[in-house]
Amino acid sequence: MNKKQFVIVGLGTFGENVAKYLTEKGAQVIAIDKNEKKIQDIAPFVTQALTADATDEKFLKSLNLKDIDVGIVAIGESLEDSILVTLHMRELGVKKIVVKCINQLHARISAKLGADRIIYPELEMAKRVAENLISPNILEEIELSPEYNIVELVVPKRFIGKTIKEAKIRSEYNLTVIAIKKKIPYLTDSGESNFKEEINIAPLADEEINEGDTLIVIGKDSDIERIKKE
Ligand code: ADP
Repeated sequence: MNKKQFVIVGLGTFGENVAKYLTEKGAQVIAIDKNEKKIQDIAPFVTQALTADATDEKFLKSLNLKDIDVGIVAIGESLEDSILVTLHMRELGVKKIVVKCINQLHARISAKLGADRIIYPELEMAKRVAENLISPNILEEIELSPEYNIVELVVPKRFIGKTIKEAKIRSEYNLTVIAIKKKIPYLTDSGESNFKEEINIAPLADEEINEGDTLIVIGKDSDIERIKKE
């Protein structure tokens, strides 16, 4: 299988880390920044590192971007540069474009220009941290659509010792349990007690819920909000 090819423009904290992770995962990564020092620092970690102003269309044309699977525009400091690079990438045939945005206007313009994905790392992280502080029993939340979510939650106290059916997760909350993670105690070779995690996918309604379990449920956001308060 051919390696996936990425181009990343802007090696601030975000761009630099995305570039490193993608390379670690076996992708081909071309990193571009107008700051030479950034390019020197990233060069050992990526396939190709180029010092250039990416708003220069001639330069981008020379890279043959048609073969690039994903272009990541991670220029936070200049809205104008980010917009220009997104526009050029679209015109030069990059298959998928991801833009790191700094505000709503930036996001709206990028979407109009054909960005396939808009990300706000700071905003997303702030939301996650705030959510976690408000509902510490929520370990992970994935937004499937504006209306539906999947959440991983620590078992509410009043569910302990009940089956999924008795806890009325479907009948009272309209939620479906798609997995239960259980901590199974065991003795190590040296006789100490430890825990290993077991996951039961698509558990049956008569599966018992125990203390320390984690439930992974899918359902409407409004219903999930209710179970969070348990
Ligand atoms: P972060 O918030 O992730 O740290 P920054 O917005 O601070 O990101 O960093 C943006 C990076 O993008 C900087 O390294 C800057 O040199 C680079 N950059 C800005 N404009 C251009 C451009 N036109 N062409 C190439 N690189 C650019």
